[in-house]
Amino acid sequence: MPAADLQSTIVIGAGITGLAAAHHLLAAGISEVTVLESADRIGGNIATSPFHGVSAVDEGADAFLARIPTAVGLAGRVGLGEDLVSPTSARAAVWYPRGSQTLHPIPDGLLLGVPTDLRPFAASRLLSARAKARAALEPLLGRTSTATDSLGAYSRARLGDEVHERLVDALIGSIYAADTDAMSLRAVPQLAALANSSRSLILGGRRARRAATASTGPIFATPLGGVGALVDAVANDVRSAGGQIHTGVAVETIERSGDRWSVDGRLADRVLLACPAGAAASILAAAGPEASALLGRAETAGVTIVTVAVDGMRWPERLHGRSGYLVPKPVQRLVTAVSFGSQKWAHWNTPDASQILRISLGRDGASVEHLDDDTILNTAIGEVNDHLGLDLEPLAVRITRWPTAFPQYRPHHHEWVAAIDAALPAGLAVIGASYRGIGIPACVGDAQRAVGILTV
Ligand SMILES: Cc1cc2nc3c(=O)[nH]c(=O)nc-3n(C[C@H](O)[C@H](O)[C@H](O)COP(=O)(O)OP(=O)(O)OC[C@H]3O[C@@H](n4cnc5c(N)ncnc54)[C@H](O)[C@@H]3O)c2cc1C
Repeated sequence: MPAADLQSTIVIGAGITGLAAAHHLLAAGISEVTVLESADRIGGNIATSPFHGVSAVDEGADAFLARIPTAVGLAGRVGLGEDLVSPTSARAAVWYPRGSQTLHPIPDGLLLGVPTDLRPFAASRLLSARAKARAALEPLLGRTSTATDSLGAYSRARLGDEVHERLVDALIGSIYAADTDAMSLRAVPQLAALANSSRSLILGGRRARRAATASTGPIFATPLGGVGALVDAVANDVRSAGGQIHTGVAVETIERSGDRWSVDGRLADRVLLACPAGAAASILAAAGPEASALLGRAETAGVTIVTVAVDGMRWPERLHGRSGYLVPKPVQRLVTAVSFGSQKWAHWNTPDASQILRISLGRDGASVEHLDDDTILNTAIGEVNDHLGLDLEPLAVRITRWPTAFPQYRPHHHEWVAAIDAALPAGLAVIGASYRGIGIPACVGDAQRAVGILTV
């Protein structure tokens, strides 16, 4: 019997990280794998449900990066390879009132907000001439230290405040529900790599973009059944391979039992905590007090997604071909981004030809959790109508609250993660969005990494 067969494993949390870990464990030959999930459903921060005649409309994540192969690879292994689709060619914009224009197409050639092609950047009316000139000087500047690990400080020093606020922070802040002035540079590996390998962000970005353009294939992918279909397919595979998934089991503590671990009365050789850091902190209070104290410092931000269907007849021609827009912080109230779902996804076609919009509210430093549903809806529709100069009335509404879904990676986040890893007792590991990347590919990659360590 291979040594791996002796390592029964309990996974705490049935989000995508925990499910991917269970899948990899079983594939690696560990036959006894049990996933314990506190909620009455699996998926954690991923949920997909029918909306206004469309069978699968995501309530949270609606896609994952395809150029990082982990999530696409997992989708292929669970039989969804043929089901993956990519967004349409509709383009995103930035909402910023300047002159007579409010919606500005995101200039071509941006890499996470960093201009790598100065021609479309110079032509954009989103930025003042002064800001463009400031950014154009970036290749001439000396190297900027990354010692503070502040994304905002680094980007502002390289590109100037205006480019930072209207492009870099608008793009990255919306992905992480973050204020990039209070966010780790290393948490965005692509930018951190540029900052460390190249004196100039623009010149380094240009080289990186050329290399990325050379690699073919879509940037984003999602199953036709939504991101929830990935969760379900992974869970089905786990069950068919002999793994067990129990919902409605909130793990409160784990304790030593000889040379094994006891979790909720179940014994295992290894425990993977794939729950958020805050939950891991309380579960580990007795078994790993040092790690628990560190985990207890984790911070999160909340986002609420308001999904609405609006009359297609009242949807103006001028918005066709757009996938949505971002609202930069200097002009932000509570809406941070709007996705024109029916234009972004060809398969989100409603039977009555209405348009599905997904409106995001809230972020780090701008909580919306205290607002009731009526206020949330009125705010969302009111702000979008103001932004677009429309008078839209929703035909259908769905409000999904994600009050703690976005871990905030503060400067020196990686040192915090390393300290937790070092403080954990043998046989325990923490994995998932709280630690080594919040995107689905990063979560799947983290699960693979941890299983790789367990099974050597
Ligand atoms: C609105 C929104 C939009 C997003 N958009 C994208 C996107 O487009 N692309 C992308 O790649 N990513 C996106 N993300 C991020 C991504 O969805 C998440 O980071 C990822 O799903 C987190 O997975 P996880 O398994 O690490 O954590 P979670 O999903 O938080 O799973 C942890 C699980 O642990 C369970 N748990 C907690 N405590 C206990 C306990 N004591 N006992 C047992 N179980 C417990 C929880 O109930 C939960 O199910 C988005 C997230 C949100 C909220």
